[in-house]
Amino acid sequence: MKQKLGILSLGCPRNLVDAESITGRLNFKGYKIIEDVTGADVALVNTCAFTQDAKLESIDAILDLIELKKQGKVKKIIVYGCLAQRYKDELRRQLPEVDAFVGTLGLNHETKRFALTPAHYAYLKICEGCVNNCSYCVIPKIKGKLTSLDEVSIINKVKRFNNEKISELNIIGQDITGFGIDRYGQSQLTALLKKIIDSTPDIGWIRLLYLNPERVSDELLAMIKASTRICKYIDLPIQHINNRVLSLMRRNITEKGIVSLIQKIRKIIPGVCLRTSLIVGFPSETDEEFKQLFNFVQDIKFERLGVFIYSREEGTPAYNFKGQVPKELKEERFNMIMSSQAGIAADVNSKLLGKSILVLVEDKLDGAYIGRTQYDAPEVDGVVYINSKKALKKGEFVKVKITDTLEYDLVGEVKS
Ligand code: SF4
Repeated sequence: MKQKLGILSLGCPRNLVDAESITGRLNFKGYKIIEDVTGADVALVNTCAFTQDAKLESIDAILDLIELKKQGKVKKIIVYGCLAQRYKDELRRQLPEVDAFVGTLGLNHETKRFALTPAHYAYLKICEGCVNNCSYCVIPKIKGKLTSLDEVSIINKVKRFNNEKISELNIIGQDITGFGIDRYGQSQLTALLKKIIDSTPDIGWIRLLYLNPERVSDELLAMIKASTRICKYIDLPIQHINNRVLSLMRRNITEKGIVSLIQKIRKIIPGVCLRTSLIVGFPSETDEEFKQLFNFVQDIKFERLGVFIYSREEGTPAYNFKGQVPKELKEERFNMIMSSQAGIAADVNSKLLGKSILVLVEDKLDGAYIGRTQYDAPEVDGVVYINSKKALKKGEFVKVKITDTLEYDLVGEVKS
């Protein structure tokens, strides 16, 4: 009788790709994959250890599984991923009910994968580890130095995605602009992108996630502009704008560099959707430096924005920096930027009112369909609520006339 394997994947899309490759291998070995861990012979939890909150979420998930095991609803528990990689010995001592702790597994060169995303989109991880060494980040400690996946494996994977008729391919890594630096001494992202485009004629959208502003080249921007299939969506984590803070973060770029890059992107690709992520409350961040960041966000009006509260992570250089900012003040700064961004997001959306835009249909909920525009990445950005008299299929691209706009979401209709 086939053993039932239940998988719970926490953290980022990069972690999800690891979960898909592990599940794919175990499925190949004869395990039956079940959606829900309850009732599993083996329950796998793929953990995250990027921030305090992520660690707490992972530990809670493990404790829930231990409870299920005590009730006999799960036979074996395997914990892998970043938390296991980082705290294996400690966890083994404190959680003897867990059967195995397996660290991170590195890149999967095979095409075998058990899809944990909806069938119409997929993530392609092209590199592991990171070429950078930001002072607040534990990733280099957990995932190691940058390792680029070999091109043959990548092209095999994307050809498989093309055969699977997915509609959207999301290209990811810790910093995809670093792709190839470990092998060729300089970024090979645009060369790779050309091969991916040539190998995937049936995939509607190709989305680039996690571009480091330090290495966004004119060649890359020209390729994004020229391609009808690369989403006009630039995910550009900048983290801060003040030069003193940027240098403490070991971000190899200055305010001037960031501002001129944003101006160049918007000039080369008019109407582009710019997403960024920021950290507030970095050690010794002063009121003035935060104010500068706040004003910058108001001036630039990013179409999409994520804000993280600085998380003090042992083992990172910033852990020992002086001037750790009090929790309340960090939260206050977080709320200030998020409430300001809510207004900007609503404003950005209002410009689409009455326009017809291409939408990828994702699901149906309470009689309305849910979809995303090319300006919305899966799971992190807004959605489009679609009214349609005719039946729509998941993974289908439809023209939607926008009839109403909300803070982060849109409402529209498909003409029958
Ligand atoms: S770019 Fe910086 S923040 Fe991102 S994974 Fe690399 S070291 Fe961490």
